[in-house]
Amino acid sequence: MTDRTVALLVAAGQGSRAGGDIPKQFRRIGGKPVLAHAVDALAGHTAIGSVVLVVGAGQEEDARAALESRTVSAIVQGADSRRGSVRAGLEHIASAGGAARILVHDAARPFLPATVIDRLLAALEGAPGAIPALPVADTLVRSEHDKAGDVVDRDGLFRVQTPQAFRFDALLAAHRSWDGNREATDDAQILRHSGHDVTLVAGDERLEKLTYAEDFLRAEARLGAARSVRTGMGYDVHRLAPDEELWLCGVRIPHDRGLAGHSDADVAIHALVDALLGALAEGDIGSHFPPSDPQWRGVASSRFLEYAAERVAKRDGFIEHVDLTLICEAPKIGPHRDAMRARIAEILHLPPNRVSIKATTTERLGFAGRREGIAAQAVATLSLPALI
Ligand code: MG
Repeated sequence: MTDRTVALLVAAGQGSRAGGDIPKQFRRIGGKPVLAHAVDALAGHTAIGSVVLVVGAGQEEDARAALESRTVSAIVQGADSRRGSVRAGLEHIASAGGAARILVHDAARPFLPATVIDRLLAALEGAPGAIPALPVADTLVRSEHDKAGDVVDRDGLFRVQTPQAFRFDALLAAHRSWDGNREATDDAQILRHSGHDVTLVAGDERLEKLTYAEDFLRAEARLGAARSVRTGMGYDVHRLAPDEELWLCGVRIPHDRGLAGHSDADVAIHALVDALLGALAEGDIGSHFPPSDPQWRGVASSRFLEYAAERVAKRDGFIEHVDLTLICEAPKIGPHRDAMRARIAEILHLPPNRVSIKATTTERLGFAGRREGIAAQAVATLSLPALI
């Protein structure tokens, strides 16, 4: 059986309770569609192999527009009910080879910290289902004809959130045996009904569901206030030498000489790793991958970049943009620029329009001008939670 973890993102609501003319998953917060926030949070987590999106009838075009240049592994048409939409997604995944673990998430909860996914997947080691929940802090009363009635004991009461994590086969079987005339507001109910245990893990206030217009205003304000922009820069130089391969931005470039040094000596990726680590204030590439350590000899530098991206995700951060400048007389970078952008975007799970690659010469001055080496500069802009 496949060992993969798949995220099923339900974005099939047609709802207008949040105000405005368009369903809430396509509205923007912080300039970015709600759906795109949710996809970035799921796809950016290293444990999640693919994201399957479920949309409502006639919403596929709007969903593709909201994804901008992001890709998902499938867009599946949902049903009239949330339960039916999840079922459609599960059947699609089953027909595509199945999965070991599934995270079912609602796009209306777009601000998903990586730490919640970590807790869910850890809990899933010991139970077939795990859900995030928060204790109820407010006093609860039952209302009787618009008057406050009896106080409900809130002891042991929790507010349940998504994503909810399950062993795939258990959830699929539970959905298939559920009575189609009954509705369920979440998948944990469906799994429990088939006799399985569901474990609670700590949820997160940031996962609050967007329902009403004021939820959007609050999310917009919180997004601005709760995140800070960090910038890091990196610089690196490697020597050009005969009998070496030339790797730049994770792409092998045909050239009469290549770069010598640490790993595959991809000077551009090294500068970019330093920019990312710099924005996190977490040292430099040499402190994480010492050049003296033989295990890094000849290794593909893409591994260092994947590692740096994981460090960003672990801090609940997002990479907003990266900008690289290559400094050399030769080779010409222009013919390779698109391939370089695509490769860096692929490694960082970013749309290519958030990866910039530029090149310059030094007018034949200095070491780069004498073709003795290639230098690279990088700037990385991250969005990080402000209070860490
Ligand atoms: Mg280097």
